[in-house]
Amino acid sequence: MTRQFYITTPIYYINAQPHIGHAYTTMVADAMARSQRLLGADVFFLTGTDEHGQKVERAAQKAGVDTRTFANDVAGSFRQMCRDLSITNDDFIRTTEPRHHRAAQALWRRVAANGDIYKGDYEGWYCTVDEIFVPETQLVDGRCPTCGGKVERLKEQSYYFRLSKYQQPLLDFYRAHPAFVQPDFRFNEVRSFVEAGLQDLSISRTSFRWGIPVPDDPAHVMYVWFDALTNYLTALGFGADGSEAQARVERYWPVVIHLIGKEILRQHALYWPAFLMAAGINPPERIIAHGWWLMGGAKMSKSAGNVARYQDYVRVFGVDALRYFVMREMPLGLDANFSDEGVLTRFNADLANDLGNLVSRTTTMIHRYCDGVVPAPGERDELDASLERQIGGTIGAVVRQFEQFQITVALQETWELIRFVNQYIVKREPWALAKRPEQRAMLDATLYHAADALRVTAALIDPVMPEAAERIRRMLGTAQERWTDLTAGGLQPGTRLGPTEPLFPRIEKTLEELRTMTPDETPAPAEQKAATPAEQKPAAPAEEPRVTIDEFMKVDLRVAKVLEAEAIPKSKKLLKLKVDTGRDQRTIVAGIAEAYQPEQLVGRSIVIVANLQPAKLMGVESNGMVLAGSPDGGQPVLVGFDQDLPPGARVR
Ligand SMILES: [Zn+2]
Repeated sequence: MTRQFYITTPIYYINAQPHIGHAYTTMVADAMARSQRLLGADVFFLTGTDEHGQKVERAAQKAGVDTRTFANDVAGSFRQMCRDLSITNDDFIRTTEPRHHRAAQALWRRVAANGDIYKGDYEGWYCTVDEIFVPETQLVDGRCPTCGGKVERLKEQSYYFRLSKYQQPLLDFYRAHPAFVQPDFRFNEVRSFVEAGLQDLSISRTSFRWGIPVPDDPAHVMYVWFDALTNYLTALGFGADGSEAQARVERYWPVVIHLIGKEILRQHALYWPAFLMAAGINPPERIIAHGWWLMGGAKMSKSAGNVARYQDYVRVFGVDALRYFVMREMPLGLDANFSDEGVLTRFNADLANDLGNLVSRTTTMIHRYCDGVVPAPGERDELDASLERQIGGTIGAVVRQFEQFQITVALQETWELIRFVNQYIVKREPWALAKRPEQRAMLDATLYHAADALRVTAALIDPVMPEAAERIRRMLGTAQERWTDLTAGGLQPGTRLGPTEPLFPRIEKTLEELRTMTPDETPAPAEQKAATPAEQKPAAPAEEPRVTIDEFMKVDLRVAKVLEAEAIPKSKKLLKLKVDTGRDQRTIVAGIAEAYQPEQLVGRSIVIVANLQPAKLMGVESNGMVLAGSPDGGQPVLVGFDQDLPPGARVR
């Protein structure tokens, strides 16, 4: 029977652009999702954005745009982050979507029907300049922490959740689920907090409008956490009509793992299970709280000015190297230091040296000594057998560590194997064996076992470094394997290798040079392969047939402006667009729904094939085609312009 695995990141609050902290959580969740797919689980992986509340309203005002435009823009940056970091999320939820309003209101009604919501007065310190309530604990010398102005005592009506009623039920639940929060020391903090007693929780506001209206009392909007936490159910279809949505909720709930930062543990381990109990829904299976990234020993924060941008590291080191660094460096639950020195050192030592050398020497020697074909292993001696045992042991250990979210340890285990294989090669000295024809069998055995170990290494690094794993497979001429089928000795003799290319070319530049590099000089290791000698040779004997300029000009490419955009019911991929082509208005169906929200598209200039024969897609007639870049395994990115062009302009 297939096992379900549902993993979530927090939904990210859109009062700021994504940084390395968001990137980290998302990459770890992605590695977990990928590892579970390799183990054959039925995976659902959710991320998204938390878009309501006064802070967003105010950030938009400050930026001089209306709140929805502001939200679309920042949510777009988080979607872009997912594309930039090779994230394989199955859904991206935004709390401003209608499906989420429905779900949050449905949850509210269930809790209210259970008698756990009542109306009372909320009293607190209010800053009239910023128009916000400031929690007592955040006052600075009795003044507003934002503007430094006076605060006054203010009262407004609010709905309250009877959190106090759930003190004992929560403690009972914790006792029955000893692995509910990981790591353990964090679970102890939560338990102590609950044991000290719980107060009812204010869950609505009347002082701002940017939120989900309380059912039957639209003067109130839901206060952030009740709204935000519900997203984990929304994405499954909670609150929607129909048996399909119902079945989906039952399929993935409550076997869910919420991966979060430690700063929002209380809300997830305490409020959320209490809300769910009040609604008659089982609490989630597990909450995993990771630590913080420190810069020079201090927590990264906007105000401290020490926030690392993930884009800078992707540009210089590549996505996979960034993914490797953060997962190798931060043990689950603990804080870790983020430093440029650390990234560069790991890149050159672990990736260029250990892994890169294993890849290049193994594949190069098979090309040189075996005409690029994996030899048969022949008879094994004790050294070969010890390598096979090492491979088998590493597979088992890596799977176990991933199942416990110990990715750091899994990577350590994998690197022990890599170093073991490198030593094996040094001991055997295949370059010396190759000079003595009577040692042919030993040479073949050595290269077979090294290549077999490399094949397993590619499989084991796949969740953390998917691009590197794929490139190693291309060099070895092998295909992706499930972890459930992975064993030593699985490499087929006779397999023909692809061209060898440098995997992680050593970076010789100093940190100072790297920091001052312009984007043009950036090495971006993952993209360097086009320049390697192995690939400069003509790739295929038969060239693709060329087209004449006349043939090309038959395709009528035009600038068009999107007037309307909407989802097509029951389709995950398709959006229905109404566009202005400068000559007419027409409907085009585009397969971009996984990468774009309809509201992001309205007003945008796109490129269309204007003279394509009409076709019916999901019952909608499409008159043309939208052009987008489609990276292998990634989401489409619309073709655009760096200046505005009128609809109807020809593209050629
Ligand atoms: Zn203020």
